[in-house]
Amino acid sequence: MLRPRSSECPMPSSSRRAAARSSRQPAAPQKRIYLFGDGKADGNAKMKDLLGGKGANLAEMAAIGLPVPPGFTITTEMCDAFFRGGNKMPAGLEDETRKSIAFIEKSLGRTFGKGPKALLVSIRSGAAASMPGMMDTVLNLGLNEQTVAALIKETGNTRFVYDSYRRFITMYGDVVMHADRKRFEHEFEALKKARGYKQDTDATAEDLQGLCEKLLRVYRAATGEDFPQDPWQQLETAIEAVFRSWNNPRAIEYRRLNRVVGLRGTAVNVQAMVFGNLDDNSATGVGFTRDPSTGENTFFCDVLFKAQGEDVVAGIRTPLHLDALKAALPKVHAELFKVRDLLERHQRDMQDIEFTIQSGKLYLLQCRNGKRTAKAALKIAIDLVNEKLLTREEALLKIDASSLNQLLHPTFDPRHKAAVLAEGVPASPGAAVGRVVFSSKEAEERAVQGEKVILVRHETSADDIRGMALSEGFLTARGGRTSHAAVVARQMGKVCVSGCGAIEIDEPHQFFSVRGQIVRSGDIISIDGGTGKVMLGEVPRVQPRLDEDFATIMHWADDARTLKVRANADTPADARKAREFGAQGIGLCRTEHMFFDEGRINKMREMILAKSVDGRRRALAKLEPMQREDFFGLFKAMDGLPVTIRLLDPPLHEFLPLDARTQERVAEEIGVQVEEIQAAVSRLHESNPMLGLRGCRLGLLFPEVYEMQARAIAAAALEAVRHGIKALPELMIPLVGHVEELRLMRDLCVAAIKRVQDEQGLCIEIPIGTMIEVPRAALTADKVAEQAEFFSFGTNDLTQMTLGVSRDDAEGGFLVEYVTRGIYPVDPFATIDRDGVGKLMKMGKELGRAARPGLKIGICGEHGGDPESIALCHELGFDYVSCSPYRLPIARLAAAQAALK
Ligand code: PEP
Ligand code: MG
Repeated sequence: MLRPRSSECPMPSSSRRAAARSSRQPAAPQKRIYLFGDGKADGNAKMKDLLGGKGANLAEMAAIGLPVPPGFTITTEMCDAFFRGGNKMPAGLEDETRKSIAFIEKSLGRTFGKGPKALLVSIRSGAAASMPGMMDTVLNLGLNEQTVAALIKETGNTRFVYDSYRRFITMYGDVVMHADRKRFEHEFEALKKARGYKQDTDATAEDLQGLCEKLLRVYRAATGEDFPQDPWQQLETAIEAVFRSWNNPRAIEYRRLNRVVGLRGTAVNVQAMVFGNLDDNSATGVGFTRDPSTGENTFFCDVLFKAQGEDVVAGIRTPLHLDALKAALPKVHAELFKVRDLLERHQRDMQDIEFTIQSGKLYLLQCRNGKRTAKAALKIAIDLVNEKLLTREEALLKIDASSLNQLLHPTFDPRHKAAVLAEGVPASPGAAVGRVVFSSKEAEERAVQGEKVILVRHETSADDIRGMALSEGFLTARGGRTSHAAVVARQMGKVCVSGCGAIEIDEPHQFFSVRGQIVRSGDIISIDGGTGKVMLGEVPRVQPRLDEDFATIMHWADDARTLKVRANADTPADARKAREFGAQGIGLCRTEHMFFDEGRINKMREMILAKSVDGRRRALAKLEPMQREDFFGLFKAMDGLPVTIRLLDPPLHEFLPLDARTQERVAEEIGVQVEEIQAAVSRLHESNPMLGLRGCRLGLLFPEVYEMQARAIAAAALEAVRHGIKALPELMIPLVGHVEELRLMRDLCVAAIKRVQDEQGLCIEIPIGTMIEVPRAALTADKVAEQAEFFSFGTNDLTQMTLGVSRDDAEGGFLVEYVTRGIYPVDPFATIDRDGVGKLMKMGKELGRAARPGLKIGICGEHGGDPESIALCHELGFDYVSCSPYRLPIARLAAAQAALK
């Protein structure tokens, strides 16, 4: 038998795992195929895992009596078996396929591959998760010389038959044989041009007959073989091709980007063709039962007369509004509205449907829950509750929590289709447009002139802070979701695309290039921090508006959740924003960010360069009032809510300038020799700074730093109390791995706090807790809990240290490959790695609470704003999650969903 050329389809990792399993287990008898239509429905809507979304819903529609052409679904297990068997049809499938074709033949009184009434079928993919357009389809299968003649005789419509045949040859050549589709399409285009036709429907029967002859020649030239006449061969090879399309590069990439994991493969739906291209009363259409952009309860539907489904997707002609259908076929129009109501009531959600009208009769080919914007999702959820189709709880579960991001930041106008220059890690959401600058200095110069700028760097550092504050967003070639640029961006509410490896920056010559395309300093780019896309020029934006629907959903979510939500916030402005978005406290104030400010960083540098304890104390004394003021501002903004303040964490070298020019400037500003700065830079240099002198290790070596911070916290809290503010400070020690570290730092802080309270004759309780971010701390959490009044899991570091993967380097680099290959199903820095890091969290919680019952436990790593990680925190019985202010609505909804599930 003719074998199509196989595309490179490595066995997917899920199949390899399944292969390992199955080699040990006896094969259970399997039902390979599920029939639907003609009063039969083997499956139902709940069987998406096995039948794919399309197959499950076809069965469901058939079961509720909707007009569905008869057909059958080959299960996703068969796709898995196909890959496991080395891209071979699983045993027994061919026989069962033949029997199932007989079911369709009998239902319709037609014969597959023969006249007088020939049966044609469509072969369509459909996985459990919708992957629109990613996998393959073959329509009009079963056509050959014999059936072409029979259908012409039966319908008397030569044009229709050759129109179907030209489509089939093209699709089969492309999908099954991987011949270049353009070679086929070119022939039709050339024909239209030669005849002066504007539309495909202008072509006559003779034109199309001649075209088919040409296409058969193109097929032969492209494949070296004649077009297959045997319909069973056509069918088997098309089914194989659809299986293989599960692993085509775009499907793999789609699954990676959309975190579609753990599926067995695609199901294959074989269904009798109905023809939207048969005559003037035939059409094809797609629609949403409500407006997917706004959520309005209006039927959002397009039809295309004398066409097949592929034409709508390809945009071959402009589809018509439903009114055109009403004018042409009023009965079908009315029936379609009835179907819309029935489907919505039955599926209890907005549906995306596909249908065909053949000679005035309506057929349903697909329905599924429609994709929608966040705005539409909220409106639809509320409307469905008001219409009594859903309870509040069910409605909450239907909203994609992550999509709420769209509501909080300006977004690029989805109606504008911009060409994507490069793609990086979506590190801080929002849509930024500005002129490219390569240095903080240039950012300042241009910003002063009123220009909007985007800072483009290999990666950012403390020295860039001022320029960063003046930029609309940051684009970095290196670093990930927790890089300096990313963290600062989220803190400042700026947009950030990090780890964009495709851009090659040439700073000296002030340009960057992407595959040879040059972008110079001053050129305008647009960056999308929600998708990681970088586009040339200005892409128009739309501003967010938080409406009543948003408030309603948040209110319902707050009623349903048990986890509290806090914010990672370092400034009063951030804290106010956090409160606005529903924060119930601050879970992490990273105090180092307060030192990076212009006017403070040099004092910090003086402290680092000091040669004695006294020198350090003198420098710290200058910083102390500023710290006090910072903390007072936070307590005021969070009046009545807890504020967790973490003592200094990053390695000190991050505060020192690295380039010679800045070193000279700084030396002059603080009155030291430039050589002293250089000596400090080399003294503090470490090969693995993230495992080096940072966190509580700084506190141990330079106790005066933590002493100063503890004093500032106590003094600010007392000042707040005197102002009538209910300050609830919590002091947190970072990077603890051994209980002794915590004991020493705790004693130091307790003493410092006590001194302030004694001096002021006023007392306020300041619980002292620790971050759990070193695996050893989780493993010995019972010991650690003896010294800690609360735990906060720092899952950025905990992930980095548990996986042994540098958080700053890996995300834009090899980790992408790991995720693509399914070693980690999703980016572990975005979603907690349940099996590893999650296990440590569970252990940490159990040991900690066993030693100290009721121990308060939260999370403050970036995962605190990720719905799946929030679900884990709920399962583990944590008290709160903490995330950046802009992720709070996501956290509130995700926490509610976790509680409801
Ligand atoms: C963490 O490690 O999860 C954390 C919150 O600390 P940082 O990101 O500041 O290291
Ligand atoms: Mg950390």
